[in-house]
Amino acid sequence: MTAPDTDASPIGYGEAALEFRDEIRDWLRRNAPEHLRGVPVPRVPAPDLKAHLDRWADTLTEAGLMCVAWPREYGGRGLSGVEVALMNEEFDRAGVPRLTRGMGEGLVGPAVIAHATEEQKRRILPPIISGEHDYCQGFSEPGAGSDLAGLRTRGEVDGTDLVINGQKTWTSGYYKANWMFCLVRTDPDAPKHRGISYVLLPLQVDGEPNGVEFRPIKRMTGQALFGESFLTDARTPLTNVIGGLHQGWRVAMTTLGSERGGSATTQHVAFERQFWRLVGEVRERGLQDDVRVREQLAWAWSQIQVIRANGLGLVADLAAGRSGQGLANGSTSKIRWSEFQRRLAEIAMDLIGPDALVTGTGYELGEWQDEFLATRSHTIWGGTAEVQRNIIAERVLGLPKETAR
Ligand SMILES: Cc1cc2nc3c(=O)[nH]c(=O)nc-3n(C[C@H](O)[C@H](O)[C@H](O)COP(=O)(O)OP(=O)(O)OC[C@H]3O[C@@H](n4cnc5c(N)ncnc54)[C@H](O)[C@@H]3O)c2cc1C
Repeated sequence: MTAPDTDASPIGYGEAALEFRDEIRDWLRRNAPEHLRGVPVPRVPAPDLKAHLDRWADTLTEAGLMCVAWPREYGGRGLSGVEVALMNEEFDRAGVPRLTRGMGEGLVGPAVIAHATEEQKRRILPPIISGEHDYCQGFSEPGAGSDLAGLRTRGEVDGTDLVINGQKTWTSGYYKANWMFCLVRTDPDAPKHRGISYVLLPLQVDGEPNGVEFRPIKRMTGQALFGESFLTDARTPLTNVIGGLHQGWRVAMTTLGSERGGSATTQHVAFERQFWRLVGEVRERGLQDDVRVREQLAWAWSQIQVIRANGLGLVADLAAGRSGQGLANGSTSKIRWSEFQRRLAEIAMDLIGPDALVTGTGYELGEWQDEFLATRSHTIWGGTAEVQRNIIAERVLGLPKETAR
């Protein structure tokens, strides 16, 4: 089993969306690279695979298949949520990765499109599409994670620039980024949710460092995929402030909404693929008749179907012109997928038994060991599961706000 068959789907996608699906299917038939078909893409691909992926990213960019949900006037393709979902399914059907421009596409772009000036949109969006600008996220600080509005990094206006001093932490992908989108306090006298600005900061200016020093932090998997960021007199023109000076909180909410709910319509596709890899592992180990194993797999499969139904529900909403993408919807989705992925990895570790414990010099982490360690963090980044539950309690159920800590 792979992606749900959209030909047989109960959702009325509409003729235009189905025509688009056929166009993508045909394009993939002609252009999908054979050497990438069915190849799993690890968090940090080996150099050979990375070179293939970079070439594939160029092909997608040339074909107008990068940042596809962005409006056409800024270099996107103006696809609706339904069309994006159909496109993802077609890539899965063809067995090739549906590459994106990462945080630039998923987090910066939506915020810029919603809140930036026309001049900013025309300047900031195209280099994200081309891959020239690669962003990392400077939101969290040592004393401001869940309580993000408590951030203390300062931004002071100096002529036509903003000068930034402070510390960020857990900055994912800093090692490959050349820009950071960050939140800084520009009005220390305002109440804490006001007086914050949403700023795009180049990490180099004219080839020289721009006052941002990174120190890697190793994750449990052994990889340093994030780091601490120390900002000392880092400069950016005021024209890189999005949504107006001191008005950054509402811009940040757009970014957080995208981070939590962004791929809700199609994430089941990746989960199904992962599930069948686990079933393969079970068969290889001759465990398929074990009642306990079958129970766990049945649980996982039913959870994926719940996630799929939820995703299709969202697609149906979008197809019918109803918006289902509020912050609360993002929170529900984030809790569901992050807790499911953690549990699936626990099940996998249980199934592979003593092999799960083999690590150390000369023994690289296997897929499930890596997944088990990496998914511990899924209920933390993008807002913890506890914080998502608070959002649902307050904004969906209308329960009283928690008392201040
Ligand atoms: C893998 C990974 C990648 C990340 N990447 C980035 C990145 O690229 N950029 C970036 O800016 N940040 C990033 N983060 C940071 C992430 O957003 C924060 O870790 C997260 O918001 C939690 O903040 P904190 O770590 O300060 O924990 P804290 O806020 O100190 O929370 C500690 C514990 O208290 C609980 N808690 C806190 N407040 C409440 C409350 N009001 N009610 C109930 N429980 C509460 C939390 O749920 C948690 O269990 C990343 C984190 C991880 C793990």
